[in-house]
Amino acid sequence: MKKLYHRSYFFDQGICFECRQCGACCTGDPGTIYVDSDEIVRIAEYLSVGVSAFIDGYLYPIKEGHSIKEHSDGRCLFYDNGCAIYPVRPEQCRTFPFWFENLRSLKKWKQTSDQCPGIGCGPRYSKVQILDIVRSNMDAVIKSHLTDSHKYRSTKTP
Ligand code: SF4
Repeated sequence: MKKLYHRSYFFDQGICFECRQCGACCTGDPGTIYVDSDEIVRIAEYLSVGVSAFIDGYLYPIKEGHSIKEHSDGRCLFYDNGCAIYPVRPEQCRTFPFWFENLRSLKKWKQTSDQCPGIGCGPRYSKVQILDIVRSNMDAVIKSHLTDSHKYRSTKTP
């Protein structure tokens, strides 16, 4: 793992990012929004519903756990002009756009930047901070990829 930190990347000087809560990564094409068992408990508590009721009403099973349901237009069930569970949103959402797949090349990062207006805004994340986030979200991103598709639903807005 040390090698990960000693390599050189296009983001060696860091990247500025601050979520504008535009919803571009919460809407668009359908995809998987992976939630693990701890997140299920946390979100259910936040919504003041029982865990079973939350699972039945808001989630569907996937190979490695659960995903949040979506509206027929592909919007996350919790997105309606803003995220209704923002303080307790899943790791997959919390760590976007600092996903391995977005950072694996400058070309890919530029594509992500075209879709996320938060990139280039706000505080600068250092290379180490970015790599720490990539490591922390790897599990969620891998599990969301074990299904047909994952959300980031790439193209709806902006
Ligand atoms: S696309 Fe970027 S700015 Fe918009 S909600 Fe997602 S992370 Fe935030």
